[in-house]
Amino acid sequence: MNIKYQIIIEEVTNLVKIEHYFKLTTKTNQEFYTKKVVLCTGHGNSQLLHCNKKFSKILNLNHLKRSINPQSKILIKGMGLVMFDIISELTEGFGGKFIKSLDDNLIYIPSGLEPKIYLYSRSGLPLSGKGCKNSLSLPHKPQFFTINNIHAIIESKDNLDFDEDFLPLLLKEVTYRFEEIEGVGSFNVDHFFYPQNYISKNNYHDFYHQTVEYIVADLKACKKGIFQNGTKAAGELIRDLRDNLRLCIEQKKLSSLSHQKFLNHWNVIFNKICVGPPHFRIEQLLALIDSKVVSLEVAYNPQIMEKEDKFFAVSNFTNGQANQIDADYFIEASIPEVEHVVESSPLWMSLDSVSLFNNKGYRTGGVDIDDSSRVKNISGNVYHDGLYAFGIPTEGSKYFTYVLPRPDIPSTFLKDSNIIAEHIIKSLTH
Ligand SMILES: Cc1cc2nc3c(=O)[nH]c(=O)nc-3n(C[C@H](O)[C@H](O)[C@H](O)COP(=O)(O)OP(=O)(O)OC[C@H]3O[C@@H](n4cnc5c(N)ncnc54)[C@H](O)[C@@H]3O)c2cc1C
Repeated sequence: MNIKYQIIIEEVTNLVKIEHYFKLTTKTNQEFYTKKVVLCTGHGNSQLLHCNKKFSKILNLNHLKRSINPQSKILIKGMGLVMFDIISELTEGFGGKFIKSLDDNLIYIPSGLEPKIYLYSRSGLPLSGKGCKNSLSLPHKPQFFTINNIHAIIESKDNLDFDEDFLPLLLKEVTYRFEEIEGVGSFNVDHFFYPQNYISKNNYHDFYHQTVEYIVADLKACKKGIFQNGTKAAGELIRDLRDNLRLCIEQKKLSSLSHQKFLNHWNVIFNKICVGPPHFRIEQLLALIDSKVVSLEVAYNPQIMEKEDKFFAVSNFTNGQANQIDADYFIEASIPEVEHVVESSPLWMSLDSVSLFNNKGYRTGGVDIDDSSRVKNISGNVYHDGLYAFGIPTEGSKYFTYVLPRPDIPSTFLKDSNIIAEHIIKSLTH
């Protein structure tokens, strides 16, 4: 085929079907006609969404950076990947430096221009770091949570429940991998999935020390790596076997309740275990806590109040003590939900009667697609033969599309894009 590429950097704000064609209109009112459209709008609106001093789902900090000063206090909700990016921008981004001490510890040298940063999340713990891959060994080959075993379960029943039908196999696999490295009987499943339960909430002093100990231990485990540390090996396994996990979810036999529980509970836990930042970010976080630029004073599940242009956070401990801080700015350190991605996009909103994913009443907010990734309409048929969707807007019909290829692991990203490309080429050449 004679394929030519033309790159047009414009926001598409409107898409209408005109018989066998689509008319695309851009923000600057340019119009284009095309037979095929692939909607891969990803994480959605990356513009700064803010209201007064409340910054929500922030992916661009330039605006905020212009208005804060060294006296500013910033409260950050969420201790995941986005938080690591934000604190990097608010520290190194203001001229602070990390240096290694003589005893090989990382130290933060403040510039004096950075604000005071207060972190918090429900668990009070940051995402655990990614283990280093300090060997050329191949990824773990599953013994129990195999594609064959998962297929056998799918074929054996009409209605499935993730916790009852698939989780036992996954737990067996995780235990096996952990104990292969750390010894038989050493795996504590509760500690692996819920480390926050092992941090004292009795008073701030204990909470602080145990949290820092947890982060130090996590850094040590990261450095030992995914082939030498049981926790990192077992976490990496969950990442490596994401295609197997995907099969459990995308076969569309989970009950609505189980699907919802999987996404709201297990998926969150799996992410905490295996999608964390590289270990140097954990090391930087420790240095920032040590330098008192980053504070854990209200890290544990605080109540948040907004009053007269200030934000108040109160963290309660079981001995009756409470830590309270006030902040000038509030940042929600997370990427937009798929619901927001679709609903806030003029492009998506211009397509009326697109079907949203619905598993017997459970909705994720993502759009519904068929096996060739073509968008469905509300009657459940193909919306238009030439309209495809790919990646994050399809979460629901698909599971965990937001992952890029990496060595030795096939990526759903490439597989799905191949399906679409092949379908387009076939339909244009026939
Ligand atoms: C903090 C963070 C860390 C991450 N770390 C990792 C990681 O370590 N490993 C990993 O595999 N994945 C990681 N991811 C996920 C990864 O970023 C996504 O999987 C990937 O970016 C998705 O690619 P995409 O092309 O579908 O969407 P995007 O990368 O979001 O790209 C979508 C593009 O479409 C454009 N667009 C949207 N709407 C329109 C419109 N109407 N008109 C024209 N253009 C439009 C956007 O401007 C954007 O350029 C991370 C994500 C985040 C937020």
